[in-house]
Amino acid sequence: MKVDVSKLISKEVSATSEHGLDEEVAIPDRNSAQIQGKVLLTRLDQSILAKFDITASLNLNCDKCLESFREQLPLSFDREYSLVPSDDPEVLAVGDGELDTDLAIAQEVSISLPLQVVCKPDCKGLDPTTGENLNLTEA
Ligand SMILES: [Zn+2]
Repeated sequence: MKVDVSKLISKEVSATSEHGLDEEVAIPDRNSAQIQGKVLLTRLDQSILAKFDITASLNLNCDKCLESFREQLPLSFDREYSLVPSDDPEVLAVGDGELDTDLAIAQEVSISLPLQVVCKPDCKGLDPTTGENLNLTEA
């Protein structure tokens, strides 16, 4: 989501503004995530500090049994958006009085997911010979 920060930029250092977030964000190599929550912006001297407090919901496929399931990730994190334009794509910056929250959220969701995604801690996975889902077949 693009947040209009033109008013905040015109205010004194330490001024804040809060914005609700309710949007869908594309996550690299995953299904897109539904984001709900808020972001608190604080104007600093050369940047804007964004404190995110969100819940990300997305459909994942279990790495063991391949079944699809819904995951909810509560996430709290900070990002700094430079007020000085930068050519470095790694640097988050405010452009045209707007701050784009999508990249920061996509990054945070990606690093918050475990290397192996499982539908439940005791997922039994697939039978190596028949390919059956052992969660469904074993009592
Ligand atoms: Zn599973």
